[in-house]
Amino acid sequence: MEDYVSNGSSNSCVKIPEIKFTKLFINGEFVDSFSGKTLETIDPRNGEMIAKVAEGDKEDVDLAVKAARKAFDHGLWPRMSGYERGRVMMKFADLIEEHVEELAILDTIDAGKLFGAGKAQDIPGAARCLRYYAGAADKIHGETLKMSRSMQGYTLREPIGVVGHIIPWNFPTTMFFLKVAPSLAAGCTMVVKPSEKTPLSALYYAHLSKLAGVPEGVLNVVNGYGHTAGAAISSHMDVDKLSFTGSPEVGRLVMQAAATSNLKPVTLELGGKSPLIIFDDADIDAATDLALQGCLYNKGEICVAGSRVLVQEGIYEEMKRKLAEKAKSWVVGDPFHPNVQQGPQVDKKQFERVLSYIKRGKEEGADLLVGGEPCGEKGYYIAPTIFSDVKDGMQIAKDEIFGPVMSLMKFKTVDDAIQRANATRYGLAAGIMTKNIDIANTVSRSIRAGTIWINCFFGFDCDAPTGGYKMSGFGRESGLDGLCMYTQVKSVVTPLHNSPWL
Ligand code: NAD
Repeated sequence: MEDYVSNGSSNSCVKIPEIKFTKLFINGEFVDSFSGKTLETIDPRNGEMIAKVAEGDKEDVDLAVKAARKAFDHGLWPRMSGYERGRVMMKFADLIEEHVEELAILDTIDAGKLFGAGKAQDIPGAARCLRYYAGAADKIHGETLKMSRSMQGYTLREPIGVVGHIIPWNFPTTMFFLKVAPSLAAGCTMVVKPSEKTPLSALYYAHLSKLAGVPEGVLNVVNGYGHTAGAAISSHMDVDKLSFTGSPEVGRLVMQAAATSNLKPVTLELGGKSPLIIFDDADIDAATDLALQGCLYNKGEICVAGSRVLVQEGIYEEMKRKLAEKAKSWVVGDPFHPNVQQGPQVDKKQFERVLSYIKRGKEEGADLLVGGEPCGEKGYYIAPTIFSDVKDGMQIAKDEIFGPVMSLMKFKTVDDAIQRANATRYGLAAGIMTKNIDIANTVSRSIRAGTIWINCFFGFDCDAPTGGYKMSGFGRESGLDGLCMYTQVKSVVTPLHNSPWL
């Protein structure tokens, strides 16, 4: 494996730009942290430091919440027309498109994401998400009520207030905008805490938001660790709503903090162990490709990864052979290289966690079909790994590994597939491959998960709500359901005096 990027050498293909934004963004300005402390963000391609960024803590969160509170209680943003908010958001989207390359580089060096995917999907997707919600900003309205007595009533849909957004590292850009775009459209103000592992693009977005005309105090970004800055946001008495994406363990802490502070409502987008169910009548080559993409995309660091592949017994052996063949030629390496399909895991901790699950799978007696080892001399790369003949009770079949590890399992009947697919505490997504519409309909209605993909996987769209059943969380992101998470409904009632209309 070779480096595809260097800082200015003649064979360099992508030049890493100077890191421009490393402070906290509070009340429209980049500022140092109150303590003066910094944290290091690390390049997972080689384990080297990229930059030191300001490390926010309770005092910084306090300042950011104060700014957001003032902008909400007295500022222009919640009071301006939805149309005007939409215009600013459109400008924000245009600015993102002017900086696609630089932003994609930041997510690649910070998170190890494929540069090509960042340029083609994540960064343009952020602009699309902003425009989708910009278009909705002037269409947020309530209903006229049919009151049963002589009263007239209607509802107002109002912005929920100051929002605390706590986001993970696996899709630094996408996660940022899934939260920021609808809450901006609704007229909320906010404090965003990016993951301590991937703060760079969030700070760049803060800068662009200012250029676009988002007023001071509306969008604040506080980098920092979860147990300090994150906990300060969750327990803050002046934050009106929390939107959290991350692990179930931390989701529980966030919910507890909300409960023991001001009882703020919480949206939780948590983990998954999604099944991809492949029936005997599926096209085997297409199913093989889909299964590999579904599990290995973004090096398996994706909450909806199809990490449990259930294959019907008639095609199981052939699929197993084809999966092994294709996984062996899966290209792992520098995520800047256009031919590479899989970059490094986000950091040493995640790398070691994934390897410990692989070890566990071997100990549990699952058949290691392919992979199972780290690769490369530096950085946090792991070969695509497939265990076959995995049993439902094994740890690798139950836990979210969040790495390039597939559990391949055999099933007999439709009922068997449904029961096994549902035998998990998670319920984020599921995929079904079949040509039989009755099977597709039956299975999609029987699986307890927030998203079902039929003959596709990762069918995301701004208009399609995503979210969890069971321990994958509650609330929705994307679509108009995602916008509703940032509004609340007020009923307004007046008496109808002397009216013949009841
Ligand atoms: P994590 O739960 O460790 O961290 C998520 C965020 O919470 C980070 O910003 C972290 O700093 C912060 N945090 C940590 N401790 C905190 C605390 N005590 N109080 C407040 N905030 C705290 O998760 P992660 O490792 O960053 O991300 C991986 C997890 O995220 C996986 O479980 C994955 O499935 C999940 N995820 C879910 C979705 C979804 O949409 N459902 C999307 C992406 C990732």
